[in-house]
Amino acid sequence: MLKATQVGDVTEIKMGRSLDGQNVRYWVAAYLIGGVLIDTGCDYSKKELTDFLEGKQVSLLINTHYHEDHVGGNALLARRLKLEGLAHPETIRLMSRKYELYPFQVEIWGYPDPSTALPIGAAVKEGSVNLRVIETPGHCRGHISLFEEERRILFSGDIWVGERPKTARAEENVHQLISDLKKFEEIKPKIMFASLGKAVAEPQKVIETTRKYLEETRDQVLRLHSEGKSSQQILEELFGRESVLASATQNQLSTKIFIESLLRET
Ligand SMILES: [Zn+2]
Repeated sequence: MLKATQVGDVTEIKMGRSLDGQNVRYWVAAYLIGGVLIDTGCDYSKKELTDFLEGKQVSLLINTHYHEDHVGGNALLARRLKLEGLAHPETIRLMSRKYELYPFQVEIWGYPDPSTALPIGAAVKEGSVNLRVIETPGHCRGHISLFEEERRILFSGDIWVGERPKTARAEENVHQLISDLKKFEEIKPKIMFASLGKAVAEPQKVIETTRKYLEETRDQVLRLHSEGKSSQQILEELFGRESVLASATQNQLSTKIFIESLLRET
């Protein structure tokens, strides 16, 4: 399923797999600004996305990171629209091979066709769009965020998912996420488009609140750890119990992983 909304100069394209033809459990967004497409959703929505973009002015694709819900349309767009892409070198390496996915990923997003791109530089100019590339590897290796300088629009990829995150994947580095959010605070965006399909106007407060929450949580986790508590004991003391997402994701996304990331070296 695909839903497009115009927000100022940005077309927000929300996509997701619908098992009943009506409801989508997990949306992920791609964004179109000028002729630049940012991300391509998952494999299940690749045909809808390509149909939607056909006939529109799209001249360049940028992927924020290699995850299967962000590159699913890459290969079909390259074939049908001859769309060329840019990405971080690490993203290029990871999205060009065959993906290994857990059952929950296959159910929600599916296997993306391997795709290619050229390495992105520190900035991209395409028509009237000037994007600054911000390296934000807290979510995964090679993750970048994009900042449209003139309009002060931030495309934050999967760095910001909510004000009080309490789960993480094994490849996430919560210390790095705190640094990534500080980078967002420094650029002072007017609006932030997050990959979950959420546009946050005047996002400074939200970003600061999230960063402070993560710092406070980090300090609490480290204090309890220094008192000899195990990660399970810390989880119970700070969060009560494990997130329901853990069992739904074959334990790939959990509060325990979030705590253990904070216990690793920065
Ligand atoms: Zn991701």
